[in-house]
Amino acid sequence: MKCEKFMTEFMAIDDYENMGLSMKLHQFICRRCSTEARELTTAMRILQQGTPFRMKSSISDKVMSAIIKREAFSENRITWTNWISIGSLIFLSILLINFSDSFIWLKAEFGADLTIPVSVVLGSIFSLYAMIVTAVNYESMKSVVENYLKKM
Ligand SMILES: [Zn+2]
Repeated sequence: MKCEKFMTEFMAIDDYENMGLSMKLHQFICRRCSTEARELTTAMRILQQGTPFRMKSSISDKVMSAIIKREAFSENRITWTNWISIGSLIFLSILLINFSDSFIWLKAEFGADLTIPVSVVLGSIFSLYAMIVTAVNYESMKSVVENYLKKM
């Protein structure tokens, strides 16, 4: 192993104790690299122990509340009206497909046997949508149900 390759690989690893065998060998043989590696490890250890700058108090709470206020972080990015209108649109298109020209043409071409598979596919799409809505809004749905149960 060449010195350059050793240093490149040495900079890339996080855990200096678990170096590869060829790297350990090079560090053992090469005095220049072993000195540099030792110095780097010491420097890294000092850095990991903490920065010389100490905050008087933690600013993470302030930053988080500022982020929440700016609504950059919001639990529900899609509003309920949007979820419901998209769902209604899918449901409405399932109902309306029976009257569409292309579906009537397809039925005439392939016979009434087409109705069942198309219904299955459309039903699956609607179920999938319902699953996505539930998965995305699980927490808010849960709290709504819990509040409802408390009132009972
Ligand atoms: Zn070397």
